[in-house]
Amino acid sequence: MDIYSNRKNIYKTIFEDKNLSLIDFLNNQNFDEILEIDYKNNSYRELYRRQGKYFVPKVDNKYSSIYEIYSKEMVHPEDYNLYKSMMNPKTILDRINNSDIKNFLVQHIRYRLSNGRYHHLEICIITGKENNIEDGKMLIYAFDVQNLYNYESGENDSYFEATSSIKNELTGLLNESSFITNAQRLINTKKDIDWCIILMDIKHFNLFDEWYGREQGDYFLSIIGKLILDKSNKLNGAAGYLGQDDFALIVPNSKLELEKLASELEQLIVDNGFSIGFLPAIGVVEVLDKNLSIKDHLDRASIACDDAKLDIKNKIHYYDLTKHKNIENEYKILNEYRKAMKNKEITFYLQPQCRISNKKIVGAESLARWIKKDGTIISPGLFIPVLEKYGFITDLDKYLWEEAIKWLRSIIDKNITPVPISLNVSRSSIFAIDICKYFIDLANKYSVPHNLIKIEITESSYSETTEQIIALVNKLRENGFVVLMDDFGSGYSSLNMLSNIKVDVIKLDALFLNFDKENTNTGVQILESVVNMAKQIAIPIIVEGVENKSQCDFLEDLGCRYVQGFYFYKPMPKKDFENLLLDKNNIDERGFVVKLNEQFRIREFLDKNVYSDSMLNNIIGSVALYSYDNNHVDIIRFNEQFYKAVDASDFAERLDKIERFLPEEDKPKMFNLLNKAMEDKLSGSQGILRFHRIDGTLTSFNMHFYYLGIKEGTHRFYGSADNVTEHIDLIDQMNLIAKYSKDNLIFVKRINNKWIYTVASHGLSDVLNLSPKELEIELNNGNFAKRVVDKEKLSRFMKDVINYSSKNMDFSDSFEIRVNENKIVKLEIKFICVKEMVNNIKYIMIPKIGD
Ligand code: C2E
Ligand code: CA
Ligand code: CA
Repeated sequence: MDIYSNRKNIYKTIFEDKNLSLIDFLNNQNFDEILEIDYKNNSYRELYRRQGKYFVPKVDNKYSSIYEIYSKEMVHPEDYNLYKSMMNPKTILDRINNSDIKNFLVQHIRYRLSNGRYHHLEICIITGKENNIEDGKMLIYAFDVQNLYNYESGENDSYFEATSSIKNELTGLLNESSFITNAQRLINTKKDIDWCIILMDIKHFNLFDEWYGREQGDYFLSIIGKLILDKSNKLNGAAGYLGQDDFALIVPNSKLELEKLASELEQLIVDNGFSIGFLPAIGVVEVLDKNLSIKDHLDRASIACDDAKLDIKNKIHYYDLTKHKNIENEYKILNEYRKAMKNKEITFYLQPQCRISNKKIVGAESLARWIKKDGTIISPGLFIPVLEKYGFITDLDKYLWEEAIKWLRSIIDKNITPVPISLNVSRSSIFAIDICKYFIDLANKYSVPHNLIKIEITESSYSETTEQIIALVNKLRENGFVVLMDDFGSGYSSLNMLSNIKVDVIKLDALFLNFDKENTNTGVQILESVVNMAKQIAIPIIVEGVENKSQCDFLEDLGCRYVQGFYFYKPMPKKDFENLLLDKNNIDERGFVVKLNEQFRIREFLDKNVYSDSMLNNIIGSVALYSYDNNHVDIIRFNEQFYKAVDASDFAERLDKIERFLPEEDKPKMFNLLNKAMEDKLSGSQGILRFHRIDGTLTSFNMHFYYLGIKEGTHRFYGSADNVTEHIDLIDQMNLIAKYSKDNLIFVKRINNKWIYTVASHGLSDVLNLSPKELEIELNNGNFAKRVVDKEKLSRFMKDVINYSSKNMDFSDSFEIRVNENKIVKLEIKFICVKEMVNNIKYIMIPKIGD
């Protein structure tokens, strides 16, 4: 008998046996696809699909379309007619009613996989009240039976393997598809129960194997699985294992039970000696809408689970419908935005930028406005973040840039004196297109000189992918565009950034500076320090959001020369702006001017109040003020972030004569940096210096110095320090690994007269049946020595080690070591002295196992 007839007989037997149910049997298959057909309305719904396995053409939700398109594109050409006659919408109802297995049809059809090969699928169509299927509907199950065919032709060795396995071996839970059908059945049959669906995801499970080894990882999953299975049995629900570290559960909704579950999981993990860091995060969704598929419920539970992962206090998170509503709202905005673009409802306003001293216009910023047909204006604050989130902002950016440049052309043609216009560039546009080329092309297209185009890039962009941004800023400036750093001070380490990225203008938001709040004083000081700093490096500042005269006067007093804000002008339609330009008295054609070498004010550094304010820290990053004379360098002021960056328990003792803490070879380097900063007052100097910690280890800092001048008889410098130790460590270790690369490698550090081991690879640990981490612990707590069989030899060796290491010599020896009670292996170890000692690594230990 062939496979198909054989399978058909199985269904027949089930059908004829009053104790068995066809639908239960189907639900327990490992299926790839379930469709629900509504044949009265010629529509269908996908209840489940195994993602990515098959090549699935795009179709609408008409049943007749899948029948047409699937048959052409998914089905093997030789099975084409078979498929069409089985699925024909005109005859299907008749055939299923008159089938020899009532309300049931089965067929084997070859489907195309995503990789182009074909697999035999068993397609079952089932309908009827006795199968719990609503009137007018049918379900189509499809599952892969290729294994049966392979078995028949000798390609597969286990018939059992081919037909069984709805339960997951590791955990004893249902697999994903079985979980979905079982959950669906529970919801359909036990209608009076309020169900909830839970998704559990073990935090940082990717680390687990590394910490405890692969086998323990499997064990861990199995005990979690067992607990979940017990829970589901007790509460008459269902439990599934969705692969990797994901578990699913459906149980009656009860906060109490869920909390119990969470604490039982915690207890289980603690009892088994694992870290609580691996506690599963629990995301819960209540089943409120019974028409929503299980897959959708799981997706929602997964959103809640992601929130739970980030929350250290609450292990359980419920899916939040209002959040979902937000997303719906965003979709609405996107939809309307598309129409608005078509209807030309999106345009830009211009807000003049003025010189304080004569109140004249030096430029303007283009700001997006959405003006609806009825005249209402939608603020960019509402739609731009949505466009950014969904990746549509670049289209808007491009559109508005072109509109603005086109407008510049139009006023030039009208003989109106143009002023430079600021265009906003979104962060994502920088990575999406070649911004510089785009602007060059636009300027060419409309013959607009480059110096009329100013480009505003927001500060948060700079901190991310610095190199790419630096390259862009340089290229834009080389091509004659003016570059502004927007929203300066809203991110971190702005000060450090300025020495790496040369922009033309810094833009500060007055709002951010807290002008009008009670603590005016602090805001003012921050502003002052930024203005001074900018002067020092000769970059003009424009302050935006200036709303009243007193702010304006203050800024002028401080030496800040440009402002943009409601105090002078609000953003206005381009027609109004053109009218302003028509009167030449309104314009100052010099644009932004920088005056060099203005006096640097040091007052803010000497005022202690500033340091308590975290805003200052955000603006300027980690900075200190140094004095330097007679080859001694002292720190005379520092801020909170500097303190954090240095991260030393003996910080207070380190402020005087900091050269004491440098390794001998780094001392000249520091003095060189200071001298260089004195010579180059504008750019200062920058370099990496290493400092000794109290425990003798080294930390590395990226240091910037700027020269301030002489005060009270000593040279004064000011500068930033970023702790880059980890970064440098990593690079150094990589270099070492590359250099000594053998399959087996252990780093040996010498710190405070102690040997510290870091196991960098598997190898020895595998032989000992340990994880690398476990081996490392053994080496460091001395337990590894207990494995050595010949104790006398070991103690002789230890003496040699002291001798050799004091002379920085390589050495090697071999030992018999115990793997377990029954097994002893020979171990040869080589210690290679690291001449270019980095990161306190003194030796590389290379173990080799003999027989
Ligand atoms: P932004 O680039 O920092 O723009 C400055 C914002 O400050 C503008 O808000 C401007 O109307 C507002 N402003 C100016 N003076 C004052 C003042 O005295 N007081 C107060 N309270 N506000 C003032 P707007 O137009 O609502 O734009 C908000 C943000 O939306 C902009 O911040 C920018 O990030 C973004 N945006 C606006 N237009 C565009 C655009 O064409 N492209 C892109 N990519 N982003 C845009
Ligand atoms: Ca801007
Ligand atoms: Ca801004």
